[in-house]
Amino acid sequence: MMKPRGRLAPSPTGVLHLGNARSFLLAWLDLRSRGGEVVLRVEDLDGPRNKPHAAEEAMADLKWLGLDWDEGPFFQRDRIDVYREALQHLCAKEWVYPCICSRKDVEEATSAPHENMDGLVYPGTCRSREIVEAEEMCWRFRIPNDCLIEFQDRFAGPQSIQVNEQLGDFVVWNRNDDPAYQLAVVVDDHAQGVNEVLRGADLLPSTARQLLLHEALGLGPPQYAHVPLVRGADGRRLAKRHGDTTLRFFREQGWSSERMLGFLASWSGLVSEGTETTASELLKDFELKKVVPDEPVWSEPTR
Ligand code: GLU
Repeated sequence: MMKPRGRLAPSPTGVLHLGNARSFLLAWLDLRSRGGEVVLRVEDLDGPRNKPHAAEEAMADLKWLGLDWDEGPFFQRDRIDVYREALQHLCAKEWVYPCICSRKDVEEATSAPHENMDGLVYPGTCRSREIVEAEEMCWRFRIPNDCLIEFQDRFAGPQSIQVNEQLGDFVVWNRNDDPAYQLAVVVDDHAQGVNEVLRGADLLPSTARQLLLHEALGLGPPQYAHVPLVRGADGRRLAKRHGDTTLRFFREQGWSSERMLGFLASWSGLVSEGTETTASELLKDFELKKVVPDEPVWSEPTR
């Protein structure tokens, strides 16, 4: 059996919030409880949204929780050339095509029913356009006709995604000449030897895209596991509207890491509420199947 090897992949777009911290904790427990390895990767491609020092702060927060890693940090910014090579490969095989549509064009060309699983479904306007060179263009992946992606999610069970209707041709290289998340993640997971990915369920649709990219690039994909997102009492995804839910905030309020770990682990039904614990304590009898499948609901803990 292959040794499990996974990654913690924070985006330095702000401070780590409790939802991310919970996914990272589960990813780490899932790997370490089976003697697996952990890679730390900073997903810093989203230039305008990156905040100074956010990467260092995220790593400090992970360490405070007791989550460690064997390799990295790897920064995606340092690897643009590698992603560009992958793009060239996709171009040569005609897996991708240039697209000059702006977001507004896509919105106007898309009627509401096409807004599906994960945002707008690109109607394919540029598929057959002759575009030689344009000031601003992105590259889109050409989804084969009747494309059905099926995979076994280690946590969420069997998945089946009709890619044409549910997702559409997606961007692999952005208009500002930066690689898109989808491409970078696939290239990195392969290059960094990642054979297992555990992350939040918001990325389930992206898994279909990433499986297509793995195949187009001739790379063996990792196994995926998606855990439920944390929601507020209003049913919406945990965010600023629910108050300050950053890990930093609770640290500043004087919470110990033991209290925070207990809080995060209780969301997964691993310990009862109010327990204080450590990452190594949680490791002892961890199994992914013990994580309750319900979406945790956020309520303000007593200070
Ligand atoms: N960097 C992404 C995030 O923080 C995670 C991407 C992934 O796990 O594939 O949401």
